[in-house]
Amino acid sequence: MKSRIRKIIWFTAALLVLLFAWVGFNTYYIWRDYMTGPPVNFIENNDIALGLYPGDNISASIFTNDDLCAVTPPDTIEALRNCLKDLGVRGTFFVIPDHLGKNLLRPGDPRVELMKKLRADGHEIAQHGLAHYCVRNEGRGVKMGAEMLFLSREEQVERLEEGREILTNLGFPPRGHRCPCFSGNARTFKALDQLGYLYGSDLDLPPTTFGTIFMPSLNRRLMYPYHPFGMKLLEITSQTDPTVRLEKVMMVFKRYHSRSGVFAFLTHLPQISSPESLNRLTDFINYLKGEDTWICTMEELSEWWLAREGLEVRTEWKGDTLVVTLDNPSPYPLNNIALTFKDSGSARQKYQIIDGSGGKVEVGDIPSTHRIMVDIP
Ligand SMILES: [Zn+2]
Repeated sequence: MKSRIRKIIWFTAALLVLLFAWVGFNTYYIWRDYMTGPPVNFIENNDIALGLYPGDNISASIFTNDDLCAVTPPDTIEALRNCLKDLGVRGTFFVIPDHLGKNLLRPGDPRVELMKKLRADGHEIAQHGLAHYCVRNEGRGVKMGAEMLFLSREEQVERLEEGREILTNLGFPPRGHRCPCFSGNARTFKALDQLGYLYGSDLDLPPTTFGTIFMPSLNRRLMYPYHPFGMKLLEITSQTDPTVRLEKVMMVFKRYHSRSGVFAFLTHLPQISSPESLNRLTDFINYLKGEDTWICTMEELSEWWLAREGLEVRTEWKGDTLVVTLDNPSPYPLNNIALTFKDSGSARQKYQIIDGSGGKVEVGDIPSTHRIMVDIP
């Protein structure tokens, strides 16, 4: 009897260990972020520290909007546009090229004219699937709008290409994509990468809840942009709508901000354009503007991150001069990045900054603030 109980205990313990191991493996990408910090080549050494974002910002925040399409009431777009203009904030609009496969955006449509105005205001126009609909979802207990869910990689490539062509012909070649109803999966990443998109912007995919911990995890990060499966494509995880779930959004923002993450938040047209929603949005953005967070577009963030993650930094003292070599192998510049000199405790007072190709960028005396702003080509 005793040995039977012992066997049961051992068996249960072994099962628990296996379960924990599986959950740990599947949620690795979440806790990895907290353990390793931002996945960039250089943050600091004994001589200097380098900002992760432009200026004094310690995190990045991105306003995003989904679902602008050929059936969106134009006055709702205009109301949102005016609100963002008053706030002085630019963001990214994910536009549906051919809503439900029967409402194609065409030249001359008042919404296309408004997209031009949005771009003139500095907003980014990006792509949101093709139709935001897939007939194959019928009867499978999922949203009909979850366009990519059951499509093969080849089918996703076709839809992405078709949607991209529609937007491109309207004068808005998209560089980024977000899946309708966040229906993206590993096949989507491969399709986007194959088509040369700069970035994808999806929600945190499974496993995130108890019900989904048994699904295999994707190779990705949540708090920082990442390259799925080592691809060129950058993925930037998005968060929920602050005008709907303010408490949750605030919690996530504070956590990401304190760890120098990228916080992309979500809104939808036409819902966001009700006066109450715009008021809530205004309050939230005004809060963000009071924090040291870089409010930018997805495209700006992507280019910045691709440059920042690969930046190589070397420092060397030559007499009283600290020589800092900054090597940016990406095609994108890093303008207005903060360089902080650590206290060397000696009389060494000069600095020289050299770019990777050996060209001299800047020389000067280390200021009493120990901090300068640099443009890295
Ligand atoms: Zn959508």
